Amino acid sequence: MFTLQGSGVGKGIAIGTAYVMERSATYVPSKPVKRAKLGAEIALLDLALKRASDSLNKAMEVVPEDAPKEITAFLDAHMLMVEDPTLREATVEIMRKQSYSAETALMIHRNQLVEVFDAMEDEYLRSKKNDVDQVIQQIHHQLLALDSEREVQRNVELEGRILVAHDLTPADTVLFMKMKMSAFVTNLGSPISHVAILARSLQIPAVVGLHGAIKHIEHGATIAVDSTDGTVIVDPDENSLAELKARQQEYEDHYQELLALRNLEPRTLDGHLISLLANVELPTEIEPALGSGATGVGLYRTEYLFMNRKILPTEEEQFEAYSKVVKALGTVTIRTLDLGADKQVDGGRAQGKVAINPALGIRAVRFCLRAPGMFRAQLRAIFRAAVYGNVQCMIPMLSNLDELNQVMDIINDVKYELDSEKVKYDPSVPIGGMIEVPAAAITADQFAQRLNFLSIGTNDLIQYTLAIDRVDDEVNYLYDPLHPSILRLVKHTIDAGAKCNIPVSLCGEMASDGNYTRLLLGMGLRIFSMDPVAVPEVKQIIRNSYVNDTTGCIDTIFNSTQSTDRFNHLQRLNENHLHLPSAQLSA
Ligand code: PEP
Ligand code: MG
Repeated sequence: MFTLQGSGVGKGIAIGTAYVMERSATYVPSKPVKRAKLGAEIALLDLALKRASDSLNKAMEVVPEDAPKEITAFLDAHMLMVEDPTLREATVEIMRKQSYSAETALMIHRNQLVEVFDAMEDEYLRSKKNDVDQVIQQIHHQLLALDSEREVQRNVELEGRILVAHDLTPADTVLFMKMKMSAFVTNLGSPISHVAILARSLQIPAVVGLHGAIKHIEHGATIAVDSTDGTVIVDPDENSLAELKARQQEYEDHYQELLALRNLEPRTLDGHLISLLANVELPTEIEPALGSGATGVGLYRTEYLFMNRKILPTEEEQFEAYSKVVKALGTVTIRTLDLGADKQVDGGRAQGKVAINPALGIRAVRFCLRAPGMFRAQLRAIFRAAVYGNVQCMIPMLSNLDELNQVMDIINDVKYELDSEKVKYDPSVPIGGMIEVPAAAITADQFAQRLNFLSIGTNDLIQYTLAIDRVDDEVNYLYDPLHPSILRLVKHTIDAGAKCNIPVSLCGEMASDGNYTRLLLGMGLRIFSMDPVAVPEVKQIIRNSYVNDTTGCIDTIFNSTQSTDRFNHLQRLNENHLHLPSAQLSA
């Protein structure tokens, strides 16, 4: 038995069998295959090789007679490689020796070949590695096509198991989620990365940023994943198992107790009624959101509709999806597409141009403004779905008012179009913006004058203000929502909204963390949007808090220059269930 430490996210504790997957340098997940299934896996490789060779043959047949000779030579070379028995033999040997799937073994062999080419002095010969890549890709493509046939089999294998992976993109997680894993552990990732956010919404435990997870946890080992303290116990002994099971039960009992507050108002002891909303991304989260006691959705992330697919969802498909959430939850803030950076549609496997610094590149509203056709379809779907409830439309990642002007022009166009087509829609949908770029937070007063509401996205706001990549666990230690810069930007945004008389919510992970609830209440925040799993606890804190007259204490936190002092003052604010005069708290 041994214990590994990472960052705990999600809900509860899981005990189960590890299903280890590895992602190689070229982004093909390593899938171990049981010895008994190797024969079937090899047959699959043979089928993929045959299909790749057939498709090259077909390509040869349609090459025009007058086409340059190089084309046929190129296809010939590829055909030779596909049909080369050593390619098959080397791959099969890796499969047999390491019990890997065909895809993984093929990729390992590809890496071995590329290494040889890379070491060549002659530039021409070195460039031949591109041919290897293209051929391997073709075979992979065939394997992927066959994959759906195998998916059912995999689902059965992963169900109830604990997935251990090097890294999971949000797109991967959505795929694996369908397989009903009971928990996951990753080498990479931080508590505010999207995979972590998804673990919370799926209400399963996860530990991220656990370096060496893949190395230390064996496929098939019994492990316990504790999201409350970020530990993973490998091969727990009987005593630890009994203790873990008791803690699992305790956690569940406590959660059920909190859920009993479901129908009570989130009102502070001095009478402030707070709005508690849920963040949702997948249709499967409607139930947990409803069950949590949230009174609506403050952030509906729409990226997941666009993931793991080759073609964009149509307006109709989006309309159906949004309408479903609106009909179920009544009050919903739908965020327009926030793709790019850590939210790649295909888990980053596309071969396209990759921005050097994706978080600062074309993402979210920047991406939408570059793809007006796609943006318009989404806006139309949102405005149409709005007839079924109380819908708001929220634009992510705004950084200047010119962008907002462009968005508003498109919105006006879309409305004009819907009017002229006599399509049923709600023309009065409030338009709001996420304040998640420091530039937007500093100029929140200007945004507040132009928008119907603001929502503070602390995940990105912290990333950009503190210059810490939210998916890089190496800089996790710098994640500090109490940093004076963050507190000032959040306060400035809340005040800007109040001055213009428009609502301001906070929908970053900071809202889900009960440690910050009283602080945010004291800073004037009245609308919290969070992972459904956090709603009961935050409600309990609100119901045990005073808001009035906490200014002195809040000021003390704001003015403390040392992080330990800020933390200690926050602890004191949180420890006192009843109102204490500010002088006492700041003493
Ligand atoms: C945020 O940045 O705080 C936020 C809520 O948006 P996302 O996490 O989807 O980027
Ligand atoms: Mg964001």
